[in-house]
Amino acid sequence: MTCLYIHIPFCLQKCAYCSFVSFSGQEKLFDRYVEALCREAGQTAVQAGRALETIAPLETLFFGGGTPSLLPAALISRIIDRCRQLFTFSPTIELSLEANPGTIDEDGLAKLRRAGVNRLSVGIQSFDDRELQALGRAHTRAQALDAVKNARKAGFDNLSLDLMSGLPGQSPVSWRQTLEQALDLRPEHLSCYQLTIEEDTPFARLQDQGCLILPQEEAIAAMDELTLSLCSEAGLERYEISNFARPDKKCRHNLNYWHNLPYLALGAGAVSYDNQRRSRRTSNPRRYCELLETGNSVIVEEEELDMEASFRETMIMGLRLTRGIDLNDLQSRFGLDPRIYYGKTLEHLINQGLLHLNQERLRLTTHGLIFANQVMAELV
Ligand code: SF4
Repeated sequence: MTCLYIHIPFCLQKCAYCSFVSFSGQEKLFDRYVEALCREAGQTAVQAGRALETIAPLETLFFGGGTPSLLPAALISRIIDRCRQLFTFSPTIELSLEANPGTIDEDGLAKLRRAGVNRLSVGIQSFDDRELQALGRAHTRAQALDAVKNARKAGFDNLSLDLMSGLPGQSPVSWRQTLEQALDLRPEHLSCYQLTIEEDTPFARLQDQGCLILPQEEAIAAMDELTLSLCSEAGLERYEISNFARPDKKCRHNLNYWHNLPYLALGAGAVSYDNQRRSRRTSNPRRYCELLETGNSVIVEEEELDMEASFRETMIMGLRLTRGIDLNDLQSRFGLDPRIYYGKTLEHLINQGLLHLNQERLRLTTHGLIFANQVMAELV
């Protein structure tokens, strides 16, 4: 399966918790950046040794960010058209784009739909205006509702909504309201991530000063329970620790990551993976443009992964999926069996009721999903 990730490192404003490669106030760079992306797409198609006639069709193309919906739809179209010239698109391609409320209107969404985008992932985070403000988000609850309404009007029948729990000032009551509002919109897919405090962000500085008040463990556990019960009542199946979907609407692009399979990537800060090596591109969008305009490589870091490191990563990523890991698949990819490789450590985790093992698969139990981080720390 061939998957392509394209990074758009621009945002309206920087959120207080964000450590992604994204910059505000860069509108003047948009056209130049898109040209650079198109150049890199050309290089990638050639360098990867994938002759245009023989390359496996792209099964997923994902515009992530940043805020891809901040780019005018015509520029997104330009990138998609260039990719269509360079790669074959599978007839069932999943073509996703991350959109933030307040950055695109119905007309723009209709243009994206016509350009081939068939899955929209809307970054809502919360339907509570006070929580949104505390996060430093650039939108309001009303704009979030508008964004979903406009996406439906524009013909999107595969919508994912992103929510966040564990926010400053959030309680199980306000989380229930956010969740119920999101589920009322009947999304095909829902991502519910818990806030983590990343280094070098305004939230990290506030935390160091003792000024960031986050919900206590008990409240977090209550929010997690609410997520599970309300999603299940709404017919959304939990298929990954933080992701829920209708049966045929799992995110195929992200499934490829969780299976730790190769993917191509373009754009400032983007990382590609070819089974042995991870390659990271410069995070500075201006530098990214300059390097491509002068015919230079944008790769600034390469990490070689040996067989064992890849095996362990595949274990950790695969355990995020509620179905867990296929043991035969591990054997054929790495020639390793986790029962032998991890020995007593694995036995212990199974005996503690955190992992479940049968002839074919290894997965976290319901109890294990709550303590996933601890389990993974033992296997990493
Ligand atoms: S919109 Fe997303 S990528 Fe942009 S600053 Fe906020 S969290 Fe970061």
